[in-house]
Amino acid sequence: MKAEIIAVGSELLTPDRVDTNSLFLTAQLNRLGIEVTRKTVVGDELDALHDAFGGAMERVELVISSGGLGPTEDDRTRDAVADLLGRKLKRDPAVMSKIEARFQQLGRPMAEVNARQALVPEGAAVLENPRGTAPGLWLEARGHVVVLLPGPPHELKAMFSAQLEPRLARLSTGVRLLARELRVAGMGESDVDQRIAPIYARHDGVQTTILTAPGEIQVHLRTWSADAPAAERTLQQLQESIVLALGEAVFTTAGESMEEVVARELTLHHATIATAESCTGGLLAERLTRISGSSAYFLGGVVSYSNTLKSAWVDVPAEIIESRGAVSAEVAIALADGIRRRTGATLGVGITGVAGPTGGSPEKPVGTVHVAIADAAGSKERVVRFPGERDRIRWQASQTALDLVRRYFLYAAQPKPFMASGRSEPGTKG
Ligand code: ATP
Ligand code: MG
Repeated sequence: MKAEIIAVGSELLTPDRVDTNSLFLTAQLNRLGIEVTRKTVVGDELDALHDAFGGAMERVELVISSGGLGPTEDDRTRDAVADLLGRKLKRDPAVMSKIEARFQQLGRPMAEVNARQALVPEGAAVLENPRGTAPGLWLEARGHVVVLLPGPPHELKAMFSAQLEPRLARLSTGVRLLARELRVAGMGESDVDQRIAPIYARHDGVQTTILTAPGEIQVHLRTWSADAPAAERTLQQLQESIVLALGEAVFTTAGESMEEVVARELTLHHATIATAESCTGGLLAERLTRISGSSAYFLGGVVSYSNTLKSAWVDVPAEIIESRGAVSAEVAIALADGIRRRTGATLGVGITGVAGPTGGSPEKPVGTVHVAIADAAGSKERVVRFPGERDRIRWQASQTALDLVRRYFLYAAQPKPFMASGRSEPGTKG
């Protein structure tokens, strides 16, 4: 079954408010096997509402709206839909007494306008609102179902699960959405697409979407099917082929964040980690500690922003900063190795770079970041040039550092060493 969502409210057409209800509704509908084919945001004018509901009813069987059911003059969804379907509005005594009871319970007098919320179009079923006064409405007309839900997100969500979900489950036909997601780090969008396009092109029935998020590329695979096991097998096959094509750049097929993946690896290997950051200002430590239980592996970190503190806190030799510059491979390695020695962690991580927008130079333009990790046997360093704004550069730098740690553990059980051994002495590059 196909559905359209209409988000009603003039405030949603301003820069101040965003329609989030439709995201919730889409997720819930998809779960029930209902595909959302269009979303509309419309203001509170009667004509516009007429158009929106009329158009949607021409295209799909199920139309769900949010908002505009309140008591005030500018809440017109009910009127517009009743008018469109040629239904009279009648005051529903049961709804009226519930509204009165709610006001009594709150110890507030009921304003006359609230009586508007007890107006129900003929033939409509009332969806109770346990969280507010405006009930939702379920209307059937000409083979279509039109559902009107209140705008406040907590009211809409409560009503959806209690009232709407059971009714929709009866309507839908057993077709379900099945989806997979792969996340990729250390590769660009067009690179990813070039490698996997020949693979996904072979699967017509699966919709493949490549999305960019800061520091990662997401590959979404979606298919609608009534035969869930067969669809799962198709998705699994496709996923495996894509993982094969992208190799170790795929960091999760389970929707995890990079810090979650790193947390898992550190825990699995009983390893500990410590950080020495410059341009990221503690972002890496912040991300590592987002995970509950991180005290098991994260020993601590420093933000050694000035050259003096790079030497004083993590023993970066002043001569190296002098000769190579604070933003250099050598300093990144010295930061990683210094914090490792100071804390006794299994792994040290160092980050130094130019986050901009000022401070760039021809040799080290804004966005240049050196990231290094060090263990007792050696170190590995990576230099990257990120485009974009300061915040984006800092985020990507932290992502690259986490990715380096993740890849380190990929090689933990391999004969081929990941780290350059014997290069933990500052002044050499891994
Ligand atoms: P009320 O009785 O509160 O007036 P209502 O059904 O008339 O309910 P609206 O007046 O349209 O709903 O919206 C009430 C509030 O709910 C808005 O101020 C806004 O904060 C929130 N809201 C409305 N629509 C959405 C939406 N699509 N996404 C997120 N929030 C929304
Ligand atoms: Mg309102």
